[in-house]
Amino acid sequence: MEEKEKTPAQLRQEALLDDRKNGYDRLTPEDEAAMQSYCEDYKKFLDAAKTEREAVDEVVRLAQAKGFVPFTRGMSANPGDKFYRVNRGKAIMLAVIGDKPLADGVSIGAAHIDSPRLDLKPEPLYEDSEMAFLKTHYYGGIRKYQWVTIPLELHGVIVKKDGSTVKVAIGTCPGDPLFTVDDLLPHLGAEQSKKPLGEAIPGESLNILVGSRPFKDDDGSDRVKLAILDILNQKYGLVEADFISAELEAVPAFRASDIGFDRSLIGAYGQDDRVCAYASLAALLETERPAHTAVCMLADKEEIGSEGVSGMKSAAFDTFMSDLCDAQRVALKVCYEHSFCLSSDVTAAYDPNFASVYDKYNAARVNYGMGFCKYTGARGKSGASDASAEVVGFVRRTLDDAGVIWQMSELGAVDAGGGGTVAVYMAERDIDTLDAGVPVLSMHSPFETTGKLDCYMTYKGMKAVYQAH
Ligand code: MN
Ligand code: MN
Repeated sequence: MEEKEKTPAQLRQEALLDDRKNGYDRLTPEDEAAMQSYCEDYKKFLDAAKTEREAVDEVVRLAQAKGFVPFTRGMSANPGDKFYRVNRGKAIMLAVIGDKPLADGVSIGAAHIDSPRLDLKPEPLYEDSEMAFLKTHYYGGIRKYQWVTIPLELHGVIVKKDGSTVKVAIGTCPGDPLFTVDDLLPHLGAEQSKKPLGEAIPGESLNILVGSRPFKDDDGSDRVKLAILDILNQKYGLVEADFISAELEAVPAFRASDIGFDRSLIGAYGQDDRVCAYASLAALLETERPAHTAVCMLADKEEIGSEGVSGMKSAAFDTFMSDLCDAQRVALKVCYEHSFCLSSDVTAAYDPNFASVYDKYNAARVNYGMGFCKYTGARGKSGASDASAEVVGFVRRTLDDAGVIWQMSELGAVDAGGGGTVAVYMAERDIDTLDAGVPVLSMHSPFETTGKLDCYMTYKGMKAVYQAH
């Protein structure tokens, strides 16, 4: 059949319109295969790293296997060297030294490895009506109603009075017990059902059920609590006061799984922001002799404002960078002002079930690739770093040249709400920064959903940035 000649309108359309296509219509066979194997590795990472501490342990393990060594002050830093430094077990910085001097700046991928969860209070254990519970104080922006009646695991550390540390991860091994927060039965929920979603489950009712069997004795009070303490004492050598110096986090007991008949999606806890943390890391681990030094920063405490000694506001990052710069006799500020950072954090994926909170013309879509956000923030970009047109132009070029499928996006409709990332804290350091990451459905819920194509393209995008700048 003869090919029909294109109409003038068709020709102009092809030349002028920004024609957004589904990523699967553009995916090459090579990328298809690489995407599948990348996502299998990513799911393993998710299951191994359910807390920021576990993420750091897993990152160290993967980095060491690729030849990374701890960077200590006073070491030299030569092209091809691979370093990491752990900040208090909860954040980690890695670098591959480039051929150009640090005075020419570095390419940074910054993501966070903390996720919303239920933290135990300092005095958590109590008994009521012959049932034992742990009191919690939620961490990060959760929708409380989503955290009841789901299976929970307990992870973290307990520092005993003698200074020794006990690591806990209960629920990860087959046969382990799990925990849960109970909710009202519908038969008695008439009053609760009238309340707004945000008030139906008060924070003080997020108490984790941990036991019901009394200590074998005829009298005494709180025998269920005593029996729990007895088990903890036998297993870990704990006494009740040890909870005071503990960081115990209840996290959903879900395994990372393929979602959908077509297995095109991944469902898991903590994909905000381990999906970008893993992408930033995996890309760095494959970066050999970049032009500019490539740096991967995996921060803690993003979900509560990047505060604290392990958050992105902490000087730990500057100290690491300054120590690297000292090795090449370069001033830190000179390095920073020539550097570029991709703040790699998730964005909201357009959800047709809740269409009204999105601007569909500017929303990130599942399977449309890595999602850039020129700005985040709320109420008129408040709290955003708002990257310059020049920076966006640089990234656009870099990713197009590397064959990365990407999209431009905003988190949601202007008045619907908003959010922030670590971008603003990188920008404050005089580092040009752009937000980019994976679109997520059900963000901050116990079971978040991402598209495999977007996960893989974010990794590919990070790799392009490490290697191109
Ligand atoms: Mn995030
Ligand atoms: Mn978040």
